[in-house]
Amino acid sequence: MGGKRKKRTKIIKPKPKLPKTFECPRCGRIAISVEIKNGIAHIKCGNCGLSADIEVPPVFDEANAYGKFIDLYLDGKLEIKESNKEESTNEGEDKQVHTTT
Ligand SMILES: [Zn+2]
Repeated sequence: MGGKRKKRTKIIKPKPKLPKTFECPRCGRIAISVEIKNGIAHIKCGNCGLSADIEVPPVFDEANAYGKFIDLYLDGKLEIKESNKEESTNEGEDKQVHTTT
């Protein structure tokens, strides 16, 4: 009896937690964290220190807030707050400078 072997792969990926880390429009790292409190989304990049607070409707979740943040950022309508770290870690500059020659 040759039984057909069907691979039944049920693709169920339970996502216990939404990743609240997004790509930073400035440094390109996945280091943007979004925290929504009282209608204000606090957005901060853990890598380059880019941060902003934007007003969001109550229905917005982190991803929505991030989307709005990106829109505003790209439009240049965003008040960027630099988080002034007192770290002087200027060593290891891995900035990729694209210069078209
Ligand atoms: Zn950044």
